[in-house]
Amino acid sequence: MPCVTICVTIMIMKMPLVLEDDDGIRPAGRPDECFYCRQKVGTPHGEECVIPQKKVKITYTFDLEIEVPYSWGKKQIEFHRNESSWCSDNAIRDLVASSINKDRCLCDGFEAEYIEDIDSEPKRYSRSEANERDKKITEELRERCGLTNG
Ligand SMILES: [Zn+2]
Repeated sequence: MPCVTICVTIMIMKMPLVLEDDDGIRPAGRPDECFYCRQKVGTPHGEECVIPQKKVKITYTFDLEIEVPYSWGKKQIEFHRNESSWCSDNAIRDLVASSINKDRCLCDGFEAEYIEDIDSEPKRYSRSEANERDKKITEELRERCGLTNG
């Protein structure tokens, strides 16, 4: 009888519990379970559930059309954007402007590349934490882009 070696890797992840105010509980699903993994309140989210998050580093690359002084070449443009006092927050405006000028989304010329895990401990947000995070992002965009409600 041939000798067979079976390697089994068991990943024990501490998936966070589905809480009563879990962000995975959605109006389209049942009020006592995660919409995505269907685990009940008080039990861990499933290992394939999209609600538990981890922190990763990625690189975004965008191809954008921008306007620069007519006389500038590659060297001046790259110096201005990478080494001068120009604030990279202004790139957010460039992204929006590029979308408006093309009258469509930014998908053309966009690429995301995964770099590494930063924190692979699974985390879950409550509904109020997720709403608070979204609110802060909106406020930060308003402040950094100079957007106002008026
Ligand atoms: Zn879940």
